Amino acid sequence: MTITEKYLQMILPTFAVTGDQRVDTKTVNGLIGYSFPCPFCQFLCETESAKNKRVAYLLPHKESFSWTFYCHRKKTLQCQTSRSFSNFLAIYNPSLFKKYQMEKYHSGTTGKGHNTADPKVVKKAKK
Ligand SMILES: [Zn+2]
Repeated sequence: MTITEKYLQMILPTFAVTGDQRVDTKTVNGLIGYSFPCPFCQFLCETESAKNKRVAYLLPHKESFSWTFYCHRKKTLQCQTSRSFSNFLAIYNPSLFKKYQMEKYHSGTTGKGHNTADPKVVKKAKK
């Protein structure tokens, strides 16, 4: 399991906040994606059925083990544009996003560079 997958699994249950809501899996090009009520704009809906409608998606990327967040309803600034998983997580759950970043940083998969055979380890000197 990749770090992104691990964090995805952590936030999936939080998309179903009431008993009538649920997260559905969705197969896209043989990969697993998810649909769920939009965490950003469901509160603007007037009816329960509209709230519970699974209008938001995490669509899988081929070969990159990542997902793109997309909301069909686009009622808020947060969900008006599609977002990368990390960008989505940063807005959806900032504290979890910090952990995600740290974990990625420590494993050398920030996406900004390549894994090196000899990773730089910065340690603070103990007094
Ligand atoms: Zn939305």
